Amino acid sequence: MDLGISGKWGIVEAASKGLGKGCAEALAAEGVNLVLNARGAEALEETAAGIRAANPGVEIKAIAGDITKPDVRQALLSAVPQVDILVTNAGGPAPGNFRTDTRERWLSALESQLLGHAEMITAVVDGMAERGFGRIVNITSASVKMPIQNLGLSTAARMALTGFASTVSREVVAKNVVINNLLPGPFETDRLRNSINFAAEKAGTSYEDAYAERLGDNPSGRFGTAEEFGKVCAFMCSAHFGFITAQNVLMDGGAYPGNI
Ligand code: NAP
Repeated sequence: MDLGISGKWGIVEAASKGLGKGCAEALAAEGVNLVLNARGAEALEETAAGIRAANPGVEIKAIAGDITKPDVRQALLSAVPQVDILVTNAGGPAPGNFRTDTRERWLSALESQLLGHAEMITAVVDGMAERGFGRIVNITSASVKMPIQNLGLSTAARMALTGFASTVSREVVAKNVVINNLLPGPFETDRLRNSINFAAEKAGTSYEDAYAERLGDNPSGRFGTAEEFGKVCAFMCSAHFGFITAQNVLMDGGAYPGNI
């Protein structure tokens, strides 16, 4: 299927590794020109070079910097002629117990999972509406549907973003601009490995035991891959996705226990 987005311009935040990288690779494969971001310049350049090599006709720019910083967000916006596609993403807050979560940790989680993304959406959405095309995908988490122990901060901030996106989406859908959230369950990335490490340390077990236990929780018997995540993201950014907005697309191998 032709996704109908070749030649568009997109921004993928936090894209040198993991799920953001999967989205960038899939969008570039559909002919979308991209600006990619992550803090570490070396890994970012490596990812950008790989995507350029795989997609010679596509323009790939890389801007290193912390996406929670306003000047970095501005640099991303300034690097594109226009934003047709925006994938918001940032590293998730480290796990922690609510009893020991400090105000600083709360503010940092709100900055990385809510405020920065809300500001980027605000910056691009009216231009998208004027041009009659826009696709925004927020990478949030399965925890928005089902709480995960020790991730209260991140869940609260992501739910606030979900509420913001839901409200804005109704204002722009008539102009072919849609805003949806893609909710990862367990995907085998650095983030998941760190979270398994945390669980192992907390339970006093080995990484391997904690890994097997986490795997056992999932009806699919496996973790997801960044590649399959990216392809779903690209479809959500496609020309065919204009009548679906403010939805939470859960990708979790069937872990969510509800019927609907
Ligand atoms: P990952 O493999 O650790 O990759 C994170 C990427 O984001 C890296 O490229 C990292 O590069 C970049 N990054 C992190 N913080 C950044 C910042 N402040 N500014 C710019 N770039 C930043 O993580 P992932 O698994 O892809 O997770 C992506 C998001 O999905 C996270 O919010 C995570 O909590 C959420 N999530 C993941 C899973 C899962 O199973 N993997 C499940 C639920 C939710 P630098 O470190 O160089 O900046």
